Amino acid sequence: PLVADRARRQKRRTARNKDRRVTQANDTPNDLAAFWMPFTDNAYFKAHPRMLVAAEGMHYTAADGHSVLDATGGLWCVNAGHCRPQIVEAIRQTAGRVDFAPTFQLGHPLAFEAASRLAMLMPQGLDKIFFTNSGSESVDTALKIALAYQKARGQAGRTRLIGRERAYHGVNFGGISVGGIVGNRRPYATLLPGVDHLRHTHDPARNAFSRGLPQHGAELADDLERLVALHGAETIAAVIVEPVAGSTGVLIPPVGYLQRLREICTKHDILLIFDEVITAFGRVGKATAAERFGVTPDLITMAKGLTNAAVPMGAVAVSRHVHDTIEGSGPDGIHLFHGYTYSGHPLASAAAIATLDLYVTEGLFEKAIELEDYWADAVHSLKGARHVIDCRNIGLIGGIELEPRPGAPTMRAMDVFRRAFDEGLLIRTTGDIIALSPPLILEKSHIDRIFGKLAEILAAVD
Ligand code: PLP
Repeated sequence: PLVADRARRQKRRTARNKDRRVTQANDTPNDLAAFWMPFTDNAYFKAHPRMLVAAEGMHYTAADGHSVLDATGGLWCVNAGHCRPQIVEAIRQTAGRVDFAPTFQLGHPLAFEAASRLAMLMPQGLDKIFFTNSGSESVDTALKIALAYQKARGQAGRTRLIGRERAYHGVNFGGISVGGIVGNRRPYATLLPGVDHLRHTHDPARNAFSRGLPQHGAELADDLERLVALHGAETIAAVIVEPVAGSTGVLIPPVGYLQRLREICTKHDILLIFDEVITAFGRVGKATAAERFGVTPDLITMAKGLTNAAVPMGAVAVSRHVHDTIEGSGPDGIHLFHGYTYSGHPLASAAAIATLDLYVTEGLFEKAIELEDYWADAVHSLKGARHVIDCRNIGLIGGIELEPRPGAPTMRAMDVFRRAFDEGLLIRTTGDIIALSPPLILEKSHIDRIFGKLAEILAAVD
């Protein structure tokens, strides 16, 4: 009876598992039920799975074996191309030597080396590095550091944080509070108190089809003066902006906008935070957008390209003044009550060191600058293509905005995405905007393929 019982149980289990199975296009059964996928229409995916099973250089391999040209660097993160042997080897060797070491009251050399290497790439003065595991954690860390700084210097009344409309700062509570994406805020009802937003800078009426920085809109930075007048500078801790907003549709700062924001922050003694989770590490042709645009913030948040996305890692670069103010406050002991178990994780640190090495030895930031004109021509070659109402570019970033298709079950850009994938091209979409951010190792022939394929698909999609 015991054996029969066991057999019956096994049979039931098999039947249950079978129920859960979804058959892929190539008839390989694959259990898709358990993984609650982030920012995904789970039901649609599970009915039409598009799986990536391998990656190398500029390409992914899909589950059915077709090769997919990666025009988005994964999720804006694989800046040096996929599966670079130097990075893989660094991770492998470290995993066999020191799998984990705490950085609370202890240390291991790789975390210190990674911090020093990263600090060397930062604008002068931003040479203190706090490690996190993601962009979202970097943002919340930066906001906390800003508040701790104000308190440490005796300005505890400065608690207000200012973000911007149409900003994406990750998904933690600080990030969604200063962020400006209604869909990411609405379901959660409660947010950080005392947060305000600048108006966004997207102005297609004046700036459509701008090449590089749009000409119009520097005056939008004066919005900060409006908030200062409303609340009083003595209540404002920090302003956070993405120098180039990526996830919300490639919004490029108007000429002079960031400079003006810096001036107003300095005038009112407000900290300026640049969220460079996508713009750091060569995406705009320099180590940071701060360097590219000649504007130095007080803190910079990063992640993604820091390890070429091979191991999760984020970081906040902090000005020495902010750091020293916090560390110098009060008697000896812990001054910043913040940290993650995995801050400066050995594998992530090893990946970061190898990645930063690669950027330098292969001159990938310079390469992005060299390719920028060719890339810009290609992006703007879609002006006049069917459905296209705007094209924008900076560094190796491209945004192509499509005319919305009201009433249709899916957005037009989503149709382009699905078709492109099936035909061997990975793009990213946000609303009806196509966002492109290829690995910096791409060649002109890849650029030709990306835009040739997009033109073809745009002509075919309704
Ligand atoms: N900040 C910006 C500007 C981003 O683009 C992103 C992610 O795309 C984040 C923060 C969040 O990063 P993560 O997804 O690693 O938490």
